[in-house]
Amino acid sequence: MKKRIFIPLSILLCIILSFMPYLTGCHCPAAKALPEEKKIIYLTFDDGPTDSTTPKVLDILFEKKVRATFFVIGRQIKTREKILQRIADGGHMIGIHSYSHEYDKIYASPEALLEDIGLCRDAIRKVLPAFDGHLYRFPGGSFLCKQYRETVLGAGFRYYDWNASADDAVYPCASPNELYGNVVRSSADKNQVILLMHDGVGYKSTIACLPNVIDYFLNKNYIFDVLQ
Ligand SMILES: [Zn+2]
Repeated sequence: MKKRIFIPLSILLCIILSFMPYLTGCHCPAAKALPEEKKIIYLTFDDGPTDSTTPKVLDILFEKKVRATFFVIGRQIKTREKILQRIADGGHMIGIHSYSHEYDKIYASPEALLEDIGLCRDAIRKVLPAFDGHLYRFPGGSFLCKQYRETVLGAGFRYYDWNASADDAVYPCASPNELYGNVVRSSADKNQVILLMHDGVGYKSTIACLPNVIDYFLNKNYIFDVLQ
């Protein structure tokens, strides 16, 4: 009797677990299983650190007392070591994005991609020697380069895409209100939101809309967490 019950349940569990990456935006075997009813927002910022944007983003996060995950570009760290240190000191999570962020180079071969990731990790470790470097985000998202997903997982990294976006890179001239609208629309009806934004150069509307974006999720009783 016991066996009869166990087999269908185990199959059901396998089906649910196989869909978990698509529900959470994380594509990794070691993804944390979170209760679906829990409302969690993961703010993520790509393409920093920069002098003009990252410190302002950090000021807002500090003021609002929330944490975020920063996927950084390695070659931008030089001369911005203090900004990277400030991200870490603020309790935020740091992930590897790329050293060069040049698609032609990094997606030329699996070896080229892993070399780029290694260079970025080394650049971060020069400032933060204890950085363990397991978090990764593909420039452009893993949708661009599905053939490299296994390369990255096989090298021991966890990569995260996103399931909501301010579309601040897609529409660089968008107003803060338009970006806010993009966030609301793309995250609607999702309990676990991995929100893509950018702290590269020129993201003034991202900075301007960020307090309202944070308030929106606070008012909807989301918990702010960092990717692990
Ligand atoms: Zn990027």
